[in-house]
Amino acid sequence: MEIVDACEVRTTCPYCGVGCGVLAKVATDGQVSVRGDPDHPANFGRLCSKGSALAETIGLDGRLLRPQIHGRGSSWDEALDLVASTFSQVVTDHGPDAVAFYVSGQLLTEDYYLANKLMKGFVGSANIDTNSRLCMASSVAGHRRAFGSDTVPGSYEDLELADLVVLVGSNLAWCHPVLYQRIAAAREKRPEMKVVLVDPRRTMTSDIADMHLAIAPDGDVALFTGLLAWLGQHNALDRAYITAHTSGFGQALFAASALDLAGVAAATGLSEDEIGRFYSLFARTEKTVTVYSQGVNQSSQGTDKVNAIINCHLATGRIGKPGAGPFSVTGQPNAMGGREVGGMANMLAAHMEIENLEHRERVRRFWKTPEIAGKPGLKAVEMFKAVADGRVKALWIMATNPVDSMPDAGAVEAAIKACPFVVVSDVLAETDTVRHAHVRLPATAWGEKDGTVTNSERCISRQRAFLPAPGEARPDWWIIAEVARRMGFDDAFAHETPAEIFAEHAALSGFENDGARDFDIGAYADVDADGYEALAPFQWPALQPGGSTQAEPPPDAVNSTGHQPTRFFANGNFYTPDRKARFIAIRPTVETRTTPDFPLILNTGRIRDHWHTMTRTGKSPRLSQHIAEPFVEIHPVDAQRHGVGDADIARVSTPRGEVLVRALVTTRQLQGSLFAPMHWTDQFAARGRLDTLTTSLTDPVSGQPALKHVAARIEKFTARAFGFAVTRKRPVAMADYWAVARCRGGWRVELAFARDDVDWTAFAGSLFDAADGEMLAYHDREAGQHRIAAFDGEHLAGALFIAPGPVAVSRGWAAEQLDEVHASQRQRFRIVAGRAGAERPDAGATVCSCFNVGVTQITAAVAAGCTSVDAIGATLKAGTNCGSCRSEIRAIIAANRVQAAE
Ligand code: SF4
Repeated sequence: MEIVDACEVRTTCPYCGVGCGVLAKVATDGQVSVRGDPDHPANFGRLCSKGSALAETIGLDGRLLRPQIHGRGSSWDEALDLVASTFSQVVTDHGPDAVAFYVSGQLLTEDYYLANKLMKGFVGSANIDTNSRLCMASSVAGHRRAFGSDTVPGSYEDLELADLVVLVGSNLAWCHPVLYQRIAAAREKRPEMKVVLVDPRRTMTSDIADMHLAIAPDGDVALFTGLLAWLGQHNALDRAYITAHTSGFGQALFAASALDLAGVAAATGLSEDEIGRFYSLFARTEKTVTVYSQGVNQSSQGTDKVNAIINCHLATGRIGKPGAGPFSVTGQPNAMGGREVGGMANMLAAHMEIENLEHRERVRRFWKTPEIAGKPGLKAVEMFKAVADGRVKALWIMATNPVDSMPDAGAVEAAIKACPFVVVSDVLAETDTVRHAHVRLPATAWGEKDGTVTNSERCISRQRAFLPAPGEARPDWWIIAEVARRMGFDDAFAHETPAEIFAEHAALSGFENDGARDFDIGAYADVDADGYEALAPFQWPALQPGGSTQAEPPPDAVNSTGHQPTRFFANGNFYTPDRKARFIAIRPTVETRTTPDFPLILNTGRIRDHWHTMTRTGKSPRLSQHIAEPFVEIHPVDAQRHGVGDADIARVSTPRGEVLVRALVTTRQLQGSLFAPMHWTDQFAARGRLDTLTTSLTDPVSGQPALKHVAARIEKFTARAFGFAVTRKRPVAMADYWAVARCRGGWRVELAFARDDVDWTAFAGSLFDAADGEMLAYHDREAGQHRIAAFDGEHLAGALFIAPGPVAVSRGWAAEQLDEVHASQRQRFRIVAGRAGAERPDAGATVCSCFNVGVTQITAAVAAGCTSVDAIGATLKAGTNCGSCRSEIRAIIAANRVQAAE
């Protein structure tokens, strides 16, 4: 283990489910710096762009620092008493199912454990669900159907050991960048390793793919069901494994046999040749890992997709072996921890089942509670419907922003607004959800809180505090325990530290566990404060001496230091009653959701440098430069058909609502489909809340919403004037279309107006809030060109550029002007001229956030002879820090080579 600076604190990244280790340091001047933990088994020192920029996100601007009741500051006692008494009263008057908690994969395991214990064990309802329902509920359901348990069989190392990695519905390069980098590095060492990408879009991940299958939306069920049939027809099955360790194979194969190659081609939009080549590669490659994430899970057929994939791995015996297995990667930092504590409406604690009387009774005895919830509660979509129709009368939302992230978000917002009592625990004073809360409870943020998280390979790591809690902010576990005590459950919620909660959670996992349950960390049941503080990352299971597990190799009693991965199921021993895995017979259905009015399919997702609803990444100037406004990707043929040009403002509509976003015309997008990211909220754009477009259609087994397949239409928003501005102060509402993003000296703003008869000077004055400063202006009314700059002494207060079409000024250059001194008139006039001087060539749109390198610089370097990512790195440093931009650099090199060849 590397000796780290004594001032560095080992903690864990709070973003995605890769769960990278981070070393954080606070300098004597208070400045925080972070780097990847070289000893963490998830990342071995790597961090992506989001992890690298964590230090930019911990400022206190916008923080909620005091409890509030109806918008006025209150004491903690007053707020906690009100929450406890109101929840108790609603339970007394209307029963336990009249209250609900909506929690989050951003909570730490200790927070999650107490929230679940309070609701299921003491309130007596299972109405606790989580934003993880939107993330990986279909993987949980698929695992449980096949394995009898929610077990991820493999480890990250398998992605490097595999000879074939199949990535299904997973833009790993942007959504799980460090895993992408691990695969890319393994592939560089072993060029014979193959990667297949199954995705309707040619995402940045395609740059490491030997084969890209641009599959029709939701075609995955047919692709993998057809693969099972093909494996059977081509004698590519592991008959011994099937016979010894599985059940239901005959029915599954019979159902699959209804699909021939022509049928698969019709359902997937792929050619029979492409399908045949993929099937043949899969069949002959023993060491195959199939990685899947939201493109599989966020579907009305998500659970069937998961089981169609697992069926193929069971049929070939490729599970739980080095370099072989199905692998679900989670979106959220602690989705797995939430699953372990049972923080979903249809689960119990410690991977036990709420429908199982024996399990309920065991948990009841452990918690020493007279009663326990006897049936599953409301899953996320059902929960907000119950809020809307009045069945749920008191709602507590913790660490999440459902007004933006839930499907049919307009209806969810209306439900929350109408709910008689809404409590929100959050770190921010103003989000689209917090603004509707009757009670706002200030929670501690990353860097201030202590606990554990579990990543996608079952590795439990500590998040440690390295900053004091600001103002009156308190940890979520403390808030939950205080409310529980005030509801009368003193003894069960007497915890004073997260270490005590973790020990209880560990004890429950090992309680009466003779190896019949997969999740067992009983080795930590007696962990004390010092042991908890020193806890190194470990992969579960971790057993008490004498404990029993099906994991291989069986871990030592406490396996907290080594990185030897454990795997499940190479020799069967599943967690079903007969210990055999269950094949699921699947009959693919093709759903047509488009209509003449809504002829396109909208796919929603994420971008490289933002996370969820931008409450953290939106604070970082570095992360906000890569993509600074909401957008929609559209294929050129569709763009022409619908009259939308590149960089136009587009109105995207569904029967649920409409958004205004920038159009990006690209052949990366499949014809007939649109793609738009889910990050923008009312805090960052005029009408960018994408989930106001999605519907509440869910998978029938998992309850996960189908966020990636929504019928939509697109049309050009007729703007008479376009604008771009930079301003020191955060601007307020401005135009028909606007989007704001942080930059180093302030904010950059994109604008579009339905009218052009605007007094631009007055508009600029209100935008910059700099009425008293010097103002320089250039107006060409005939051409519709206006440029106005306002100065506050020698500093630029703001600059506005107006044009009849998309404004051509360099965003990077304009943003930099906020940071510079403009002492001379020449410098000031240069801003009004709208361009850098010859000595300051335009860098173009940001590609490398770490070193602020733009596309124009990279293109010039390619023209000068840099034809590899490493050569670009040597020349410009781009791609040499976090590496998140390496796929884009590769794409720019390839595009310029094609151009040069033409
Ligand atoms: S891949 Fe990036 S976002 Fe995900 S945990 Fe690692 S550093 Fe954080």
